[in-house]
Parts: sequence; structure tokens; C-alpha cells
Amino acid sequence: MASGSKSLITADLLAETLPADTLPAYTVRVSDRTKSVRLSLSIEDGLEVVIPPNYDHQKIPEIIQKKRAWIIRNQLKLNQREAFLQAQSPHELPNSINLRSLNEEWQIEYCQTPTKSRAIAIQENKSQLKLVVNGNIADIEACKFFLKQWLMQKAEKHLFSWLRKVSIHAKLPYRTTAVRSQKTLWGSCSNNRNISLNYKLLFLEANVVEYVLIHELCHTVHMNHSDKFWELVGKYEPNYKMLDKSLNQAWQIIPAWLL
Ligand SMILES: [Zn+2]
Repeated sequence: MASGSKSLITADLLAETLPADTLPAYTVRVSDRTKSVRLSLSIEDGLEVVIPPNYDHQKIPEIIQKKRAWIIRNQLKLNQREAFLQAQSPHELPNSINLRSLNEEWQIEYCQTPTKSRAIAIQENKSQLKLVVNGNIADIEACKFFLKQWLMQKAEKHLFSWLRKVSIHAKLPYRTTAVRSQKTLWGSCSNNRNISLNYKLLFLEANVVEYVLIHELCHTVHMNHSDKFWELVGKYEPNYKMLDKSLNQAWQIIPAWLL
């Protein structure tokens, strides 16, 4: 993660400060493992052009020029992500948890109470959508651990019955289901029709979650992303292309303390 002193650049500003004939700054990395040229953009390394050995360096500016719009667009996304993470400081405890899929925004109160062990207890006040975290709240990691446990239980309760409903409605049966904490997957479906769902789905909008459930249920019929698979998904969710796209952006709204 870069330091906080880096200024934010909007796409317009970036386009303005970069006249059409000027290329964004980049570094070149030669990789034995790559067969074709690839652009990579990250907060840590900026714009990196990865090329196979023996690649003609003189071709690089033209490639960058061609990908200019993509670079500017993604640079903006990175800047937003960085600002989002900096604004919420992952080391601090959250004051609220916004479960968009359930339309529930929980407020969290922390209450230091005498305790011998590391134990943290979470009290749930459902009518007020309030959580009270009791115990040694100076132990931030323990608080996070128990809040995450609470989220996992919440996910089991809601996502399991949600999946069951969608499955019955779509007539796409599955075998078992589990809630997991995956880093890069929202859900998965095994050859044996066992479906795993990421508890972080709770933070997404309900229609996006519903799409993930349909997507995984369609994998019980097609274990791939073939045309047939998408055809089936489209039967249940005509808007699947847009929803799938928004899913790629959705990691941006997962709170930093859970990363
Ligand atoms: Zn899939």
C-alpha cells in the first residue's frame, strides 16, 4: 500500500494532464513465463508492461497508446480503491456493518467489561439493529474475530434459506451448501453439486446476491462457463451480463477490516 500522501487523480484530470500524444509513465518487466505482452496496473507498482524475452521494446509505446483508455479507466478505479481503504483504516474496529443484501445496517457499540480470558461476547439487539461487543475490547483482533463469526452465522442463516428458495423456484437441485470466507470467489459449485457461498455476499445488493445463487445453481447442470451455461443463466436472469460485471466491482464495498 502506498503512503497517504499520494494525491488522487480523476479520469478527467488524468486525461487533461496527459495530452493525447503523451504516454502514461510505465516500467517494463521481462518475464520468461509470459508469451505475449501484458499490462498490469497496481497501487504498488503503477503501470507495468510485462513482455516475453526477446520482445522488441520499440513496440511498447504503441501498445500503451492503444490501451490508453483502459489505463486511465483502471487508474481511476485504483485511486478510488486506495482512497476507500485509507478512509476506513483496516486496523480500526467498525462502528457499523451495512448488510445491503438484507437491508440491515447494524450499529456497533463497544463496551469494556472485566474479563479474565480473551473472550468477547456479542449481544444482538434485533429490533434496534444494534450489536454490543463486550469484553476486552482493547484486543482489536479478538473483536474482529468475533464480529466475523457473527457475520458467518448471519450468512448461514440467510444465504442457506435464500439458496433453497431460488433452487426450488428454478428447479435446480443441489446437494449441500456451506458458507466460506474466500478471498477471490463469491461462490463455487463442485462436481458433486455442493455449493459454497462467501459470507461477504451479505454486503452486496440483493439482486447481485440472487445472481450469484443462480450462477452457482446453473453450474449444477454445466460445470463450466460454456455458451450453454450462459444460455441457462440467461433463462433465469436476463440481466446477467450487467450483474456479472457489477460483481467484479463489488469487492470495492467490502469493508477493509475484513480484508
Ligand atoms: Zn461460474
